[in-house]
Amino acid sequence: MVEEFAFDNTEERRKTRQNGAGWIEVIVGSMFSGKSEELIRRLNRARIARQKVQVFKPVIDARYSVEQIASHSGHKHDSIPVANTAEMMAAIIDDVQVVGIDEGQFFDMPILEAVNELASSGKRVIVAGLDQDYTGKPFEPMPQLLSIAEFITKTHAICVKCGGTANYSQRTVESDARVEVGASDKYEARCRKCFVPHADSPTLHD
Ligand code: ADP
Ligand code: ZN
Repeated sequence: MVEEFAFDNTEERRKTRQNGAGWIEVIVGSMFSGKSEELIRRLNRARIARQKVQVFKPVIDARYSVEQIASHSGHKHDSIPVANTAEMMAAIIDDVQVVGIDEGQFFDMPILEAVNELASSGKRVIVAGLDQDYTGKPFEPMPQLLSIAEFITKTHAICVKCGGTANYSQRTVESDARVEVGASDKYEARCRKCFVPHADSPTLHD
């Protein structure tokens, strides 16, 4: 179902590489849509091509400052935990060729200028992140990152209610926090028809 919409930018990326320029790739979608899996796949291929890779993820919770990014399917890649954009930029190695960033939605707005600067200095930057919060609201800075990226990939999960194409992260518990960190058991993937924007709605568990 989703496959018919799949668009692979490989050819365009190859052409851009031949020009010697850097660029920005953004991977967005709901929880469980395979963003981390896709990011890890691209990073592994870059390493196989013997490119110098650095991967960053924001420290959002002390419990999750582990030096790895991980997908729900168990794929992992080493990463450097950073508190903000400034800390990430300070940790960038001069001759790094590929910069990966996971959980991009947790970065501060200066991330926009930073990734532009990295791409303009010839680096390939790949950012993965949630494009909407659990209420369906665009999750900054991801919308702005989509605007400045050369290449965009939208990933989809499978709706746990009907098996349709899921574009939303449904929160299944009540909470005021915008994100329940590391709590994938508190969310499920849902399609437009099955998504209930407010977690306190009586129809949530229908
Ligand atoms: P994301 O980074 O977008 O949260 P991950 O890459 O961490 O996604 O995980 C994707 C994996 O999650 C899938 O390969 C699959 O094994 C698992 N998964 C669990 N629930 C779902 C769902 N409802 N739809 C699709 N994949 C799911
Ligand atoms: Zn559905």
